[in-house]
Amino acid sequence: MKSIYGKLIIGFLVSILFSFSIAGYFSLRKNANELGLLAVEELKNSTELIEDFIQLIDRDDLDKILQGYASTSEVSFYIESNGQKKTYGNIKGEHLSHEETDVLRENIGQSIILQDSSIRIYAKSFEVKNQNYIVYVQKDMSKREMIFLDSALIAVFCMLVAGSITFLVIADIIVKPISRLTKATNELSKGNYRVRVNYTGKDEIARLNRSFNQMAQQLAKQDETRQQFISDVSHEFQTPLTAIQGFATILKNEKLTDEQRQKYADIILFHSKRLSTLSKNMLQLTLLEGEDVKLEISEFSLIEQLNRVIETQDNFALSKNIEIEFEIPKNDIRIEADESRLEQVWINLINNAIKYTQDNGVVMVHVKKTSKEVEVSIEDTGVGMSKEAISHIFERFYRQDKSRSVEGNGLGLSIVKRIVDLHKGRIDVISREEGGSRFTVYLPQNKSFHISERLIKKENHG
Ligand code: ADP
Repeated sequence: MKSIYGKLIIGFLVSILFSFSIAGYFSLRKNANELGLLAVEELKNSTELIEDFIQLIDRDDLDKILQGYASTSEVSFYIESNGQKKTYGNIKGEHLSHEETDVLRENIGQSIILQDSSIRIYAKSFEVKNQNYIVYVQKDMSKREMIFLDSALIAVFCMLVAGSITFLVIADIIVKPISRLTKATNELSKGNYRVRVNYTGKDEIARLNRSFNQMAQQLAKQDETRQQFISDVSHEFQTPLTAIQGFATILKNEKLTDEQRQKYADIILFHSKRLSTLSKNMLQLTLLEGEDVKLEISEFSLIEQLNRVIETQDNFALSKNIEIEFEIPKNDIRIEADESRLEQVWINLINNAIKYTQDNGVVMVHVKKTSKEVEVSIEDTGVGMSKEAISHIFERFYRQDKSRSVEGNGLGLSIVKRIVDLHKGRIDVISREEGGSRFTVYLPQNKSFHISERLIKKENHG
């Protein structure tokens, strides 16, 4: 039987039969012993009664009385006296042997207890009115044993029937939810992430159902994210590709002037650079989100690093006449972090600050060190963000400006967030819709962070 149902039924039958065999064996043994003792007691009483009859009743009536006693009681017997034997009732099996009879004859008042399969025997010699008697009384126990066996069998049968019905009902209660869950799992494996199972109660099956629903919900969410990701990626790729295709087709026109040719080639170049940045960012984010990503920790000057990054952004800022103010602290600030990845954080944040600030604006970089952490804030006088936008800016491909008038792909802040998370730091955003934003990165500089990261570094280098 492969089904859980079948296994439960077999388990039930085996346990019932096994427990009944054990219980039956012991109770039969106990019962047989007790019945045996009772039977001997009964036989002794019968013998005493017969002795009384012989003593008290006239010889003429005695035979009739003994016949009557044999027919109404469960015992049968014979009486031997003066070498004559008279039997009352239906004697079964062995009579007394010669030796046993001799023993009784020679020892008046002697008694013998015998057992012949299911027959119990009690024999006694006694003297009444100067005459010796031997009374042999027997009782057939097989009838009583049969009655006991019959009632035991009826009990087993009733238990099997009543137990089976109860069991089937209980098994149904257990098996049904499992079957429902199996069905739902099959649905899920076919890609139907909306499937859910109903559950009530707090037992193991209800807990299993709850876990299943949570898993299905999680899978549905992941599937939605995946679909959204595919749609975002294809959208992001589609725009530059369409532009490249369009301008490449125009370039084939031989009548174009050199100036036009130059212009369209520049546009193609611009969009192919955009595609290249997009795929680089996607690759970077995928690597950062991988499970085995490890930081290359080293000690370096944060001030020098920020200066270097500002320098790389100078031209961009200059093109918009934006001033970058960096208030350099008196003392150098050295930190332990992944230098190249952290550089990416400052590039993305400062680049965004310039990108989302109108011409002639200001971008301010501020650094502070406390006993526990280093704080770097990048503030701008730019376009600002709505509350709704702030709650989404760290999501992949999210951009507040749906018209995409400003160059970007919506991956920069996702990368920033992931790198800061890997450093066990955090990032705060304050922004107003009327304008002005401030991004603050907090990097812990406590011992435990350093030790664990150093170990990773050591492992990397063997
Ligand atoms: P993008 O490539 O679009 O700049 P990001 O992930 O870097 O992608 O930023 C996501 C979005 O967050 C941007 O599209 C923009 O709407 C908003 N944003 C980021 N930085 C600023 C900022 N300094 N000022 C205003 N909006 C910002």
